[in-house]
Amino acid sequence: MREERRETKRNVLLSRSLERAVRESLESGGQVLLFLNRRGFHVFCRCMECGAALRCPNCDITLTYHKKPGVLSCHYCGHREPVASRCPECGAFALSYAGTGTERVEDALAALFPGARIRRMDADTTTRRNSHGEILGAFRRGETDILVGTQMIAKGLDYPNITVVGVLDADLSLVVPDFRSFERTFQLLAQVAGRTGRGESGGRVIIQTSRPDLPAVRFAAAHDYESFARSELEQRMKFGYPPYSRLCRLLARSASASSARDFLASARALLAQRAASLGVALLGPVPAPLSRIEGKYRYHMLMKSPGQRELLELTDLMRLQLRPPGDVTLAVDMNPVSLL
Ligand SMILES: [Zn+2]
Ligand SMILES: [Zn+2]
Repeated sequence: MREERRETKRNVLLSRSLERAVRESLESGGQVLLFLNRRGFHVFCRCMECGAALRCPNCDITLTYHKKPGVLSCHYCGHREPVASRCPECGAFALSYAGTGTERVEDALAALFPGARIRRMDADTTTRRNSHGEILGAFRRGETDILVGTQMIAKGLDYPNITVVGVLDADLSLVVPDFRSFERTFQLLAQVAGRTGRGESGGRVIIQTSRPDLPAVRFAAAHDYESFARSELEQRMKFGYPPYSRLCRLLARSASASSARDFLASARALLAQRAASLGVALLGPVPAPLSRIEGKYRYHMLMKSPGQRELLELTDLMRLQLRPPGDVTLAVDMNPVSLL
């Protein structure tokens, strides 16, 4: 996609090769699956005057613009507000919408392929009961030429008539601040790529990325699980992440940022000596990557341990000697799946 942008001088949704592949597929009566892990139309709204991005009042997250029904919404707490015409920070009429979601892709496809029957499947189009099955049913019966959607479409769709699968932005899941982001990206790409090539007509998978050299992308494209696992395990070993260690995450939530932080700081002070003697590293407390959700501030502390036993000893010690104050909720997450 770096080359594509340089050569076309545009920020393109569909590279020329993907556009060509879709056209060829449609001409030969094949079906197309396009995948983008981001719903909405534009993904954020920013002021060109002062640079402020419109954020959810309850969460540390930017609002997503949905063209229908013309609202800005928060994908974490469901907060919705009407589209603004002026910046809430500086008052300038300089709001600009940027980024691409599934809704915008659907619009762009309709303009590019006017004859094609296009459907979209994401959390916004599947709120009605049965709409999920209805969209898939229509696709299976061949009443849809192009299905565009979020990871919802990555599972369970193996129809022999799919001749092109496109991943519009493989880079999205790579930037998630979590040590598993490469593993998740690989899984996602491998899963999406598995949607085609099952029929006699074969099929093509086109992954759009600005980072084609990353192992997660390169090995997924080559269906090479072994090589990906080897390179990823090497990194995990280097940084002491699972499976070469055990993690425990303490997440403190509170309407008061200082209460959440101070509670974890006292937990750290309590555990520090014993942790050191057990060979357990304490990381934090720091604000969690999603630092505020539904009005609650979120701080976390990670414990990185050679084994499970040491972690149990430390969490027991904490349970006995330290109770969170009334305005703090503590979650002790052993072997956390997400660090957000
Ligand atoms: Zn502004
Ligand atoms: Zn929110």
